[in-house]
Amino acid sequence: SVDTLLIPGPIILSGAVQKALDVPSLGHTSPEFVSIFQRVLKNTRTVFKSDAASKSQPFVLAGSGTLGWDVFASNFALSKAPNKKVLVVSTGTFSDRFADCLRSYGAEVDVVEPLKIGEAVPLELIAEKLSQNNYGALTVTHVDTSTAVLSDVKAISQVIKQKSPETFFVVDGVCSVGCEEFEFDEWGMDFALTASQKAVGAPAGLSIFVCSSRFMDYTLNDSVNGQVHGYFSSLRRWTPIMQDYEAGRGAYFATPPVQLINSLDVALKEVLEEGLSKRWDSHREMSDWFKDSLVNDLKLTSVAKYPSNMSAHGLTAVYVADPPSVIAFLKSHGIVIAGGIHKVIGPKYIRIGHMGVTACDKNLPYMKNCFNLIKLALQRKK
Ligand code: PMP
Repeated sequence: SVDTLLIPGPIILSGAVQKALDVPSLGHTSPEFVSIFQRVLKNTRTVFKSDAASKSQPFVLAGSGTLGWDVFASNFALSKAPNKKVLVVSTGTFSDRFADCLRSYGAEVDVVEPLKIGEAVPLELIAEKLSQNNYGALTVTHVDTSTAVLSDVKAISQVIKQKSPETFFVVDGVCSVGCEEFEFDEWGMDFALTASQKAVGAPAGLSIFVCSSRFMDYTLNDSVNGQVHGYFSSLRRWTPIMQDYEAGRGAYFATPPVQLINSLDVALKEVLEEGLSKRWDSHREMSDWFKDSLVNDLKLTSVAKYPSNMSAHGLTAVYVADPPSVIAFLKSHGIVIAGGIHKVIGPKYIRIGHMGVTACDKNLPYMKNCFNLIKLALQRKK
């Protein structure tokens, strides 16, 4: 039998999303596929909370979340605009990797970190940095999947608005879009990214991101030799393609993965049928129950400060004395969870994902079973 996958992505697929992978190949410019892709792009706007009237631009490309970093980094740092300074608000491994990606395209990166691992970066520190320096962009990882720290993206957007409104606001929503409150337009984002295998509930393999009209202007008007922003990652190349598909016309720059996009179509429809607010609430309820149980009943310590408004709702990270033995015990009972991946505390904790159906379908026993098995694993050690 197949193990129950409770890692923080890829996540368990709903039956309908799984089935949507098993369709015959469609021509990528066929009317059938165009209408699927058109709906996917429109629904992507809705899930990011970005209105077409704001002239933002959604993109869905073959690739993983990491491609979203490359797209921002290359289109920003390889531009002819002189200011390549970026402030990276780091709450863990994924924030640091985004910093690495930016550096690899020549951006000049400053990283701000919290006082303690498991906390968010203080807003005052971000404000101070923005006052002292002229940053072209600021990046924040909404939920850093290595620590389960939730950053207050809304509050950071207000700090940017006050201190440095010209700075591009970049949000890594890979572990938040679909499970945390997320407002692209209202919170003034310029570039936000996610990946298909997380809380939107689709298979791995798609990079999904939205650009503001201001960032589109920056990048589309920037024509040094026509090709300065990379090739596959070039927004100048992909923009007309996405615009054509959204308008109901087939177009080609590189072949889209038709089955994956069909599966994402079903996943996005399910998210929107449930309703975003309800979905955020479902994740919050499951997360609160799971974290309360681990922290209060089992006396475990959460890596992201809990209870607080700094802990994620799509995954839980908790310290345990012997992570490999807990992970192996659960695996022997058919449940797969993840270990730590933080440069300092990595060997000391475990991570459990509860995104998508495991949080939203209250009839599924997975999280209860997972809790019971963690309890048994810890009792066994005593
Ligand atoms: N950002 C965050 C917050 C992530 O959790 C991940 C992956 N877990 C990534 C970026 C990179 O995404 P991918 O592995 O799909 O390339």
